[in-house]
Amino acid sequence: MLSYRHSFHAGNPADVLKHLVLFEVLKYLTKKDKSLEYIDTHSGAGMYAFSSSEAQKTQEFEQGIAKLWAYSGDNQAIIDYLDLIKGFNQNELSFYPGSPAVAHKVLRAQDKSWLFELHPQDHGHLSNNFRPTRKRKVRKEDGFQGLLGLLPPLSRRACVLIDPPYEIKSDYELVVKTVATAYKKFATGTYMIWYPVVDRERIEKMEASLIESGIKNVHLYELGTSKDTEEHGMTASGMIVINPPWNLSNTMDSVMPELVELLSNDDGFYRSVELVSE
Ligand code: SAM
Repeated sequence: MLSYRHSFHAGNPADVLKHLVLFEVLKYLTKKDKSLEYIDTHSGAGMYAFSSSEAQKTQEFEQGIAKLWAYSGDNQAIIDYLDLIKGFNQNELSFYPGSPAVAHKVLRAQDKSWLFELHPQDHGHLSNNFRPTRKRKVRKEDGFQGLLGLLPPLSRRACVLIDPPYEIKSDYELVVKTVATAYKKFATGTYMIWYPVVDRERIEKMEASLIESGIKNVHLYELGTSKDTEEHGMTASGMIVINPPWNLSNTMDSVMPELVELLSNDDGFYRSVELVSE
């Protein structure tokens, strides 16, 4: 079942949090000259136009990047993220970069990337937006399996984004199982897992499984645009980061209150938690 299309959701509050964290992590990891491998297990199309019928239908970007567009505050991470998005646009907000586009703004000539996407149409868009090269592989394969096949990376330095649609409820368990296996093969990689809060219990289970898995140095950053509800729909989303850069939690502790202020309703909230210490 592959009905999820990210074009309906690009630029929403969940994307803002996800891509701000991704950008911060990659900026840090590319400070060292040594080559880095970027593995995007669920890449999507790579680039999105707000003029598309999908974006126009949901207008989710209006609740996310559009609210940040005129940001006049002084938080450096938010300013950097906005500069990144502005780099894909002229004066008006018209396009939004997917995770591969965010990553490729930071990756250097010595780095390598692996982009997985199963949906035939989005894989087509992805390979048009990111032509495969010797250093960039674009695969129409299962990203969970693909990831495990690449570890440990030759360069011994890797940054992984795991961003499934969670259409299939077993994805919540599969994410933890895959990361636990990946960590056994390569414990020093930086792993980022995106998750939606639709049913809080599922996330509590996911957090508990990660804590029990033996993985060390696990941090979580969650943005709630409104409080948890039993009704249908996503009210919050988060990024779990294993082996984050040393300064990421400090950065996120300054970013999260501002994102709540800018993107949330009156009952919005954030969590910035160390799930497992080093
Ligand atoms: N990471 C993207 C970004 O931030 O711009 C968004 C990805 S979207 C949330 C999830 C994508 O995963 C969809 O495009 C979907 O077609 C794809 N997908 C679903 N199951 C997959 C699998 N097992 N392996 C690879 N891609 C998959």
